Amino acid sequence: MASAQSDRDPPFLLCSEFLNFSAKDTALRWLVSANLQQEVYHHLAVYVPRILCLGPSGGSSREEQREEQREDLVSQMLLLAPLEWLLLGEEPASGLALLQENNQPSPLCGHVFKVGEPTYSCRECAADPTCVLCMKCFLESIHKEHRYRMTTSGGGGFCDCGDAEAWKKGPYCQKHKPTDTNRDTEEDPVSVLPADMVARGFSIFSILLKYAVDMLTWDQENQLPAGLEPPAREDTYYCMLFNDEVHTYEQVIYTLQKAVNCSQKEAVSFATTVDRDGRKSVRYGDFQFCDQAKSVIVRNTSRQSKPLRVEVMHSSVVAHQCFALRALSWLGQIIQYSDGLRRILCEVGLQKGPEGEYSSLVDKLMLNDSKMWKGARNIYHQLLMNSLLMDFKYKKVFAIQFAKNYRRLQTDFMEDDHERVVSVTSLSVQLFTVPTMARMLMVEENLMTTIIRTFVDHLRHRDLQGRFQFDRYTAQQAFKFGRVQSLIGDLKYVLISHPSEWSEQLRLKFLEGLDAFLELLKCMQGMDPVVRQVGQHIEMEPEWEAAFTLQMKLTHIISMIQEWCSTDERVLIEAYRKCLGALSQCHSGLPDGEQPISLSLAGHCVDTFRYQVSQDKVSIHLPVCRLLAGLHVLLSRTEVASRFPELLPLGDLSPPLLIELPLRCLVLCAQVHAGMWRRNGFSLINQIYYYHNVKCRVEMFDKDIVMLQAGASMMDPNHFLMILLSRFELFHIFSSTDSRKRYREVNKDVVQQNNTLIEEMLHLIIMVVCERYVSGVGQVEPFDEVRREIIHQLSIRPMAHSELVKALPENGNKETGLERVIDSVASFKKPGVTGRGLYELRPEWNKHFNLYFHHYSRADQSKAEEAQRKLRRQNREDTALPPPSPPPLCPLFGSLVNLLQCDVLLAVEGAVLQWAVEPSGGCWTESMLQRVLHLVGVALLEEQQQLECSSRELDVTFNYTCKITRPGEAPNTSGSVLALLESLQNAPHLEVHKDMITWILKMVANIKRMREQTSSTFTVNISQDQGPEETVRDKDKAERKRKAEMARLRREKIMAQMSEMQKHFINENKELFQQSLEELEASTSAAAAESSPPSSESTCVSQVCVGPRRVGGAEHRQLVTCILCQEEQEVRGQGRAMVLAAFIQRSTVLSKNRRHNLPDPERDDPVFMHPDLSLGIHTASCGHIMHATCWQRYFEAVQLKEQRRQQRLRGHTSYDVENGEFLCPLCECLSNTVIPLLPHTHSPDHRLDHPSLEAWLKTTNHQIAALHFAHRKLSNGVAEGAEPAVSDGFRVDFIPQNPFSSSIREMITTFGMSTYKVGLKVNPNEQDQRVPVLSWSTCAYTIQSIERLLMDEDKPLFGGLPCRQDDCLSALTRFSWACWTAAPPTTVQTHFMRLLAALLPDSEEENTPSILDIDMFHLLVYSVMSYSSVHCLDQSGQRAVDSSHLHLLHLVTVAHLVQILLTSTTEEVSMDQDSSGSEEEELTSRLYNTLRKHLGSVLPEVTSGWQLFRCLKVGFLPFLRAAALFFHYLNSTTPPADLLVAGPSQWEALCSFLNLPSNLLQLHHTQQTLLEPFIHRWCCHPAVRQKLQGGGGSIVSFPRESNRLIQLPEDYSVLINQASSFTCPRSGGDKSRAPTLCLVCGSMLCSQSYCCQTEVDGEDVGACTAHTFTCGAGLGLFLRVRESQVLFVAGKTKGCFYPPPYLDDYGETDQGLKRGNPLHLCVERYRKIERLWRQHGIAEVIGHAQEANQTLVAIDWQHL
Ligand SMILES: [Zn+2]
Ligand SMILES: [Zn+2]
Ligand SMILES: [Zn+2]
Ligand SMILES: [Zn+2]
Ligand SMILES: [Zn+2]
Ligand SMILES: [Zn+2]
Ligand SMILES: [Zn+2]
Repeated sequence: MASAQSDRDPPFLLCSEFLNFSAKDTALRWLVSANLQQEVYHHLAVYVPRILCLGPSGGSSREEQREEQREDLVSQMLLLAPLEWLLLGEEPASGLALLQENNQPSPLCGHVFKVGEPTYSCRECAADPTCVLCMKCFLESIHKEHRYRMTTSGGGGFCDCGDAEAWKKGPYCQKHKPTDTNRDTEEDPVSVLPADMVARGFSIFSILLKYAVDMLTWDQENQLPAGLEPPAREDTYYCMLFNDEVHTYEQVIYTLQKAVNCSQKEAVSFATTVDRDGRKSVRYGDFQFCDQAKSVIVRNTSRQSKPLRVEVMHSSVVAHQCFALRALSWLGQIIQYSDGLRRILCEVGLQKGPEGEYSSLVDKLMLNDSKMWKGARNIYHQLLMNSLLMDFKYKKVFAIQFAKNYRRLQTDFMEDDHERVVSVTSLSVQLFTVPTMARMLMVEENLMTTIIRTFVDHLRHRDLQGRFQFDRYTAQQAFKFGRVQSLIGDLKYVLISHPSEWSEQLRLKFLEGLDAFLELLKCMQGMDPVVRQVGQHIEMEPEWEAAFTLQMKLTHIISMIQEWCSTDERVLIEAYRKCLGALSQCHSGLPDGEQPISLSLAGHCVDTFRYQVSQDKVSIHLPVCRLLAGLHVLLSRTEVASRFPELLPLGDLSPPLLIELPLRCLVLCAQVHAGMWRRNGFSLINQIYYYHNVKCRVEMFDKDIVMLQAGASMMDPNHFLMILLSRFELFHIFSSTDSRKRYREVNKDVVQQNNTLIEEMLHLIIMVVCERYVSGVGQVEPFDEVRREIIHQLSIRPMAHSELVKALPENGNKETGLERVIDSVASFKKPGVTGRGLYELRPEWNKHFNLYFHHYSRADQSKAEEAQRKLRRQNREDTALPPPSPPPLCPLFGSLVNLLQCDVLLAVEGAVLQWAVEPSGGCWTESMLQRVLHLVGVALLEEQQQLECSSRELDVTFNYTCKITRPGEAPNTSGSVLALLESLQNAPHLEVHKDMITWILKMVANIKRMREQTSSTFTVNISQDQGPEETVRDKDKAERKRKAEMARLRREKIMAQMSEMQKHFINENKELFQQSLEELEASTSAAAAESSPPSSESTCVSQVCVGPRRVGGAEHRQLVTCILCQEEQEVRGQGRAMVLAAFIQRSTVLSKNRRHNLPDPERDDPVFMHPDLSLGIHTASCGHIMHATCWQRYFEAVQLKEQRRQQRLRGHTSYDVENGEFLCPLCECLSNTVIPLLPHTHSPDHRLDHPSLEAWLKTTNHQIAALHFAHRKLSNGVAEGAEPAVSDGFRVDFIPQNPFSSSIREMITTFGMSTYKVGLKVNPNEQDQRVPVLSWSTCAYTIQSIERLLMDEDKPLFGGLPCRQDDCLSALTRFSWACWTAAPPTTVQTHFMRLLAALLPDSEEENTPSILDIDMFHLLVYSVMSYSSVHCLDQSGQRAVDSSHLHLLHLVTVAHLVQILLTSTTEEVSMDQDSSGSEEEELTSRLYNTLRKHLGSVLPEVTSGWQLFRCLKVGFLPFLRAAALFFHYLNSTTPPADLLVAGPSQWEALCSFLNLPSNLLQLHHTQQTLLEPFIHRWCCHPAVRQKLQGGGGSIVSFPRESNRLIQLPEDYSVLINQASSFTCPRSGGDKSRAPTLCLVCGSMLCSQSYCCQTEVDGEDVGACTAHTFTCGAGLGLFLRVRESQVLFVAGKTKGCFYPPPYLDDYGETDQGLKRGNPLHLCVERYRKIERLWRQHGIAEVIGHAQEANQTLVAIDWQHL
């Protein structure tokens, strides 16, 4: 808000006139003026064009931002401040504060959601799923303890906290709970305001709102409304580009570059703004200049579609439009202070204008909505939300106005090419979802009818019968069809909660709406009819999706309408009448005047239509029939049918007519199954699929079954079945005696077809009789229905929560009812680190399993059958799967059971059983028989139930057992059904059905007994009565079964053993991806374990791995096998080269400094590694060994294949052959090079002397001097001074013999080049001096990173590594020792001299870094490796290389001790100190004081030697461990037993293994005088003092803490919230679309968006890829927050998604955040990702993922 102008920054002001402007004076002047509007307009006319939109904008976004800030400031001062003064009558800041203080805010939260912000809905208390809370309110509400759903907002919409209608319980959060309980909600907030302010408010608001509305709806580019014409008009114009949804980003960018001559970058920025704000000026200048640009743009974009909208607008018009937006925002802000002012604004906005109805300012805005640009719409929508929707009184008035305009707004929206979120029509959700409001609008504005009529009017494509016709559909129509669907959404809002009370008016309007709805359904009834194609295949797949989309969208509406009807008897009766009327209209054309045909079978006759599905038209769309079916069930459920039969038009029903169309549809499905419709293509298959699919079936398939049930219950069952037979075109098969014969004669295809049809028909009969789990058909509750679905899903297999949800239909509230029942039928099994939680059916529910469950697909059915039989076998039960006992039917459907015992069905059963007497031979099928047995079973159960329920036999009308004992009538000449069953029981070809037949016969016997006993009112349980005969039989059977079971178990055991062996083989030979790294680690290095038994030798004689006393160089031969040719080969220096597949990558895993810029590859000097380890080179291997030649042949083949592939289809593979990548031929592990295997080093010659450090230094100094001299001579031709003397045998010009065969030499070069290439990102250059350094570097870095891993995971230093890592390290270390042989000797010698110079007190080298800038382990490795090049010149045979290694180790150790002491950050703590410190503490203090002597006060004074020593020991340990690993692999020394187990520090063992005194300080102490100059040199390096004083970069202290991935919050919504407030760093406060979190450093990035693309190596890449180059050296781990997905990227072309570490309560991840269950961090899974990263396994995971899923390869990862 504006304050006094004195403290304004003068540079912002345009001129002195502005400086002298006084808002207060202006306001005073206005106050007394006669015509306020004129005054204000005049003021705006003068100032607006001078303040806003001055000249070209563009250039950098920074500039633009500053310009915007300036405009904001000045328009606040000059334009808005006077209005504030005028309104408040005092200084605005204090006035507003006072206003707010006196305000009594409404309890509505009203927080408007940003894009991506989390919203919460309570699944228990929300009135509907659109009722949501903001995060703040949610956390303060009772719902956080309930079952809630979390989603991310798409922007717009507001928090419903405080809206009593939105919540069944707990409408207020703690914060919004009304404090003042007595407050009269009806009190008018305006009355609280002073009267004069009210008056001023009215006039100011009307002037300003009118001004804004006029300007925003202004459609002239060159003129302004009256009173706003500027005093001086200039020739300045803007070329304004508008947004549309037709042109792509690329098209716009391309066009702009052409039209206005801008760079690609500017064009991108223009396009981004146009997309965001809806318009953007792309050029500024005189009219002609702008017009020219316009014509270019129009010309360039008009080719394929309508051109981009461009207008040349006068600058003053643009300025006023900009100010109009500011004015609206200002109004929105002002009314936040006072509910009274808000109400005044509402009143102003809704006041009728002079033109009468529809002329208020708000009307004007709404009606012009589709003409406005996006930015303007957003701002005024926001204002509507802040004002009208927040005021209870005016919300209603506005809702009425909205409903009145509804039709026109929707029509405008159809033509509008903007998305719905920016259309005013999207406000419907705010208005229609309030139940009272929806009801009021229905009654007063006839909203339901209006919506439906508008909808129907917009779908104009009809066929001759007036049905919708969607074929020949253009893109334009498809677009419109997409839009029209939003109307269904509105209808859903209106109907989502059914009324608890009905008024007469509501009944009337609802039924009127129903009429309109029936009209709509009539247009759908019979649409997209199909005719069976015979002869040739259809030419073009007909359109079917549109019709099904419509059906799917309407499904909930249809269900809701039924729900409404069920709440009022009168409405239900009337609706039933109307629906029946509509159906008979649809049926009017049915009989077609043709002669009916007469059918007769088993002594019954019936007439039916002459119609065949296989020849005539048939349609899947029958919504009118199905609605009637639904209402019929309601009549039964509510018992309306029995209570008011006289009110119902039941007499008008013709059952055969009712069932006709649904039956045709079901027969169509059967025929499709039978393969009769193959020539009709996929379109029909898809329709059948959706007909049964969970999204549609409730109002399609399910209702068809209900309709058949309804029809059958009203008909003679024999007639029903005869019609059924006739529609299935099977009548002839069952109607005559010789049918079988004829049947056998026709061709095989027809036989098979008919077999399938018979199966389908029997299945349909089963469903009609048994599907009673619909409340109203059977006596069940909706609860039972859901439970039955779940039981049958879980009978297939255990399932995850989300799978179950997917298998169940959702209601309009997106609920399935799953949660209410799941725990009663299933037990939950938690997931491990992978996989998801599963629900398993409790065994007691198995008996409810019905093999013919109507929602099973054929595949489901066979899976379930198999699972159930297996279960029964496991429980040692028989394998019969008898039907479960069905629930009783409702009275209206009661006569359905008679189907089971009617003559026709018995005839059908008898026929099938008769066929089954002979082995099939294709004439009948097992499925057929199985279905018949099932039907018999159902009938028996029915009879049993009736017997149990009735007290006297006389009541039982059901008499199946009696009927099946009667001998068969014609056409079945054989015995009774029962006799047939008895004879089939022992038929050898029916072994599978034996158990079921036995079950049936037992039932029959049982029922007979019951019938006999009921006379004496005595019922017997089945299981109790087993005759003695039966027991013997059963015993026999049990014995047989037991034997079979034993045999099976034996078989299983053998199979298990075999698979175990197989697994073992795989483990050893093929480390598949699925066996993740953890498993690999479990199978620890066999080699290490074998070669290192704690031998007796090692226990008494201490093992030493370095120095002249070192043990070992294993003398045993190394035999390896090539995985390609399977030949065995010994590793020898002069032998054939053997190589190990390996993968080298740059790594920042150990980095202590992520802000480090990547080094310049050309000038980087890698000789000294900085202790921050900011960039290393890591090498890993899968451990697979090949002959070098075999590998080369393999790699060439890969290259060739890749070339051929690239010619055929472009695109990438998972590996980049050009960069040397390939997949290991055995395990497909990503590799990019090979490491040569080299022989062990020889054991040292123990006879040689070990010179003292002093002597060694002296010799070495001499040698170095000689080398320097020689090198100088070599490079300059001459060298001044005398040639330094050297010891005997040392010859600087000696050229040693290369110890390796040419093939090994070649491989050494190959690997050296790979590390060089990858490490520096340069092209190969064998001459480069840095080549050997990089080889050493990867050795040192890999050892360091593995040391850290072992440490952090508490694994032993030795013997704990997986084989492949052990082999890799061993090969790597020996290679890097040998790599000097491949480089020019002088190069390596120079490196050695430089390295040593960093430690030596006096050296000729310049620019050596201080010891604070060197990683000592790297220094140790490099100097040991490079020393070989110096040592080889010594031909005396007197000096052992091992002595030198030991001295180097000692020197580096002392340097590292000093380094640690210098950087230790001990703070003086007063602990109880042992006055007599140990020797170590004493020596530490002494060394420290020596350092202080050199550096003085730069080092803090530390008196506690104990503390210093502790620091030293902890800081030094990693070095010690890494050095032990290094010398172990270099010299192949067996480690001591102590180091093979994990345990506390193991200091002593390490020191002794490394030939060091366990008190390391002794190294210094015993050589104090010798080392004094060293220490002096180290401390007095200028960089040391500078660093310690805080300059020259941060200090790395020791031990370096291991890097971990960032901490993630436990609750995922915290992350979402964080991300929603994250704005794109490049486009001035815009919300980022894909906020993405770097898991390594915690940066939030704006991913997958043009705005944040940067150029890396000449290519535009997205923010994530760009970030990886600074943060992870090309490799990155991210969390895509909106998607809840982990993203791995490596380089520019590789990446994959990985499951996030967040799980819901059901143990499932929610990738894409689609389900909305609350998500919580799973620590184990996060650790797993972290371990992958720390083990450098990410690239490998990506490689495997891309191999497994080729679509991943095609993604442009670099754009993320
Ligand atoms: Zn809220
Ligand atoms: Zn609240
Ligand atoms: Zn709740
Ligand atoms: Zn080979
Ligand atoms: Zn491999
Ligand atoms: Zn961005
Ligand atoms: Zn990062």
